[in-house]
Amino acid sequence: MVAFEHPHGMHPPQAQWELPFFDAHHREMAPRLADWAAEQHVDETDDRSACKDWVARLGQDGWLRYCVAAAHGGALPALDSRSLVILRETLAFHSPLADFAFAMQGLGSGAITLAGTPEQQARYLGAVATGQKIAAFALSEPEAGSDVAAMATRATPAAQGWTLDGTKTWISNGDLADFYVVFAKTEPDAGARGISAFIVDARAPGLDSREHIHVMAPHPLATLRLHACALGADALLGPLHGGFKLAMQTLDICRASVAGAALGMARRALAEAVAHAKHRKMFGQTLADFQLTQARLGEMSALIDAAALLTYRAAWQRDCSATSGAGTPAYTAAAASAKLTATENAQRVIDMALQMFGGRGVQVGQKIESLYRDIRSLRIYEGASEVQLLILGKHALRSTAS
Ligand SMILES: Cc1cc2nc3c(=O)[nH]c(=O)nc-3n(C[C@H](O)[C@H](O)[C@H](O)COP(=O)(O)OP(=O)(O)OC[C@H]3O[C@@H](n4cnc5c(N)ncnc54)[C@H](O)[C@@H]3O)c2cc1C
Repeated sequence: MVAFEHPHGMHPPQAQWELPFFDAHHREMAPRLADWAAEQHVDETDDRSACKDWVARLGQDGWLRYCVAAAHGGALPALDSRSLVILRETLAFHSPLADFAFAMQGLGSGAITLAGTPEQQARYLGAVATGQKIAAFALSEPEAGSDVAAMATRATPAAQGWTLDGTKTWISNGDLADFYVVFAKTEPDAGARGISAFIVDARAPGLDSREHIHVMAPHPLATLRLHACALGADALLGPLHGGFKLAMQTLDICRASVAGAALGMARRALAEAVAHAKHRKMFGQTLADFQLTQARLGEMSALIDAAALLTYRAAWQRDCSATSGAGTPAYTAAAASAKLTATENAQRVIDMALQMFGGRGVQVGQKIESLYRDIRSLRIYEGASEVQLLILGKHALRSTAS
């Protein structure tokens, strides 16, 4: 399933949507999306303005509607993991920044979909679906990344509602978002059971988001400093002390879609490698004529296929049992398998593709060079590969009879 040259650029393969994991509405949507994505030309010189541009386009043309449920302007009755995978795979094939802009609308608003009051849902979700509001998810802290329960940000009850103090870092869409879902300790000695979620508007007094973080691939990030940040009582999202569970449920929905994004980047790398190998002349033939090249392309295809099947299985499994499935040990393990395999395999595929380009592979401005940087952080965020390995190891110990 190799991509082909489209009049407007490279087009992702479509045959995978015929797999039994997908339904008729997925098969109808995927080629429309692929055509749409191939026609977009966004200047990505500045990641912040490019991200805003992508959100506006994705909102205007209806694609952000997959980030919320139909009751709030969404495309489908409930969040659908397979649609999210198709969207992220296709967008990442064309532009990892487009994928990022899309994904953050879902991740940043997911907790409101899951646990918001009708008022909170009405205030934010419709605007997320049209791109009028940009969303962000603020969980990580300088001393609490993988170990979420170690967070130090405090939320204390105040006359008007709540006061937040602390630092959140690595926040995607930081200083760009219109609102943040912020997780803070409401019962400091209770570990994971003492965390609550809050909706913090970007203009909230006491919130400073000006400290930007620059990373190796375009990605708007910032540190949030909360100094006596005053929130109304209506800012509490979901049950008091229920924030850890809510954060994990939100990440659970998105985990298979991170795998989808990695898959999109890997497919693009394979497509670039195939196109290059067919045209590059050496030793009186083309690079593609060498068996060593064919073997490498075969290895890349197999790595992609393995990642794809695990990704689609995880998304299908969540959708088939959306109310009971998410959060169950079987789904958590399937999502961990997909995220681990797709991100690690994509890194290998992109590296193999880059090698085929020789010197051009490391030339700034080449697609394969930027993919090499784009893929790296997917092995770290939303649960590093080691965290996924531990989830899988514990699942194996629990479920395998000795
Ligand atoms: C581009 C990018 C975007 C991000 N966006 C967001 C966002 O929008 N919101 C947000 O809240 N956070 C965000 N993050 C933060 C991200 O979730 C954290 O970086 C991640 O959880 C890891 O935390 P850490 O960086 O503190 O690393 P640490 O927790 O210090 O982990 C360092 C390394 O230790 C290893 N490790 C972890 N656990 C174990 C273990 N149990 N045993 C052995 N080794 C282990 C892993 O290799 C890991 O990479 C983003 C990060 C990046 C890079």
